[in-house]
Amino acid sequence: MLNNDPLANVLYIDLSKRIFKVEKRRDLFEKYMGGTGVATALLHEECPENCDPLGPDNPIIFAVGPLTALFPLASKTVAMFKSPLTGNLGESHCGGRSAVAIRMAGYGAIVIKGASSMPVYLSIGGNQVYFRDASSLWGMGNFSSGRVIRENETGAGLRTIMRIGKAGEKLVSYACVTSETFRHFGRLGLGAVFGSKKLKAIVVSGKSSLPVSDKKIYRKIYDEVYKAAVNSPVMKKYHDLGTAENITPLNDFGGLPTRNLKEARFEGASGISGETFARQYLGRRLACSHCPVGCIHIAALREPYEDEAYFYKTSMISYDYEPIYALGTMLGRRFSETDGQGGRIMGDGRDESRGYPGLGHGSPGKGPYLGKGNRRSRTRMGKCGRIHKSGRVYCEPAE
Ligand code: SF4
Repeated sequence: MLNNDPLANVLYIDLSKRIFKVEKRRDLFEKYMGGTGVATALLHEECPENCDPLGPDNPIIFAVGPLTALFPLASKTVAMFKSPLTGNLGESHCGGRSAVAIRMAGYGAIVIKGASSMPVYLSIGGNQVYFRDASSLWGMGNFSSGRVIRENETGAGLRTIMRIGKAGEKLVSYACVTSETFRHFGRLGLGAVFGSKKLKAIVVSGKSSLPVSDKKIYRKIYDEVYKAAVNSPVMKKYHDLGTAENITPLNDFGGLPTRNLKEARFEGASGISGETFARQYLGRRLACSHCPVGCIHIAALREPYEDEAYFYKTSMISYDYEPIYALGTMLGRRFSETDGQGGRIMGDGRDESRGYPGLGHGSPGKGPYLGKGNRRSRTRMGKCGRIHKSGRVYCEPAE
């Protein structure tokens, strides 16, 4: 590690006291491999044994690695926390601009502890942390809250906006955190940990530059990594069709999760394959910062208004292998039966690959149904959706 590398800076934020400090932690970044190693060590330091995952003591830790913002493909931030879904280690990864923004803001890791007494969002940048009132954002979905924060904060193009929707606010145990609208810390309920701290969003603006000891060698290695990535057939497949490309081969060799895992092939797979989505719905492709793969595929879904001929609303919905199998094949449903549902789930800030496989449990083809679940999930979901008198949990969100 170079002497002046800002990667060693760890930003500690206390939401209860509304204070922050920066510590140089070269010890961590020199000892552990990458952001995941450092985040795990920080979780070990900061998370007390037996702490409540939804209590103020549960820390949220974000970390990036030494290659982030210097080389292509190092585009992910890792989040570590105690999971409200499992009560165990919570590890979730997200791209968008999150990793590059954290690194270019001058940090290798961010540790957030405590809980705010009122809704708040953090604005981090220029060596400062601002605690902003988020009362007016509380209750908004993550699409709308992202739009409002974009208007209020400077640094467009160089910042990340990580936020929760209604599911996180209502402590749904598999709520996710959304970054740049189409990327997510999806797994293990980070959104609920945000919600328990009344933390609606974190904006990180990264405007600094990074030290490089030998620019010639740096350029040479950069080019090698870049060429190896863009010339790989794996990259082409994900660039052209995205992860939805996997539907057809998985179906062909009998590995496509179908009807709540009772089957491994789906008769309607060709109608929800990556090829079909690209042909009929693909509106644009996007990439996380510093990633030449650009695997993010956005469908332009045009829906007619029921009572006005020739008028349409168009929704831009990102699609991946996970929501397609979770909302489609696991429920035995073709795309026409799931139109727009993925967009609503993402708007609420739920992890569709965690929640929706459960919809298939014991109820193929009978609509949104989560199974009886345990008492905890019923309670959490009950605040977000509806509970049938039989005890079954429905997944449509309350307005
Ligand atoms: S664009 Fe796709 S491959 Fe590249 S970092 Fe983002 S999610 Fe990963």
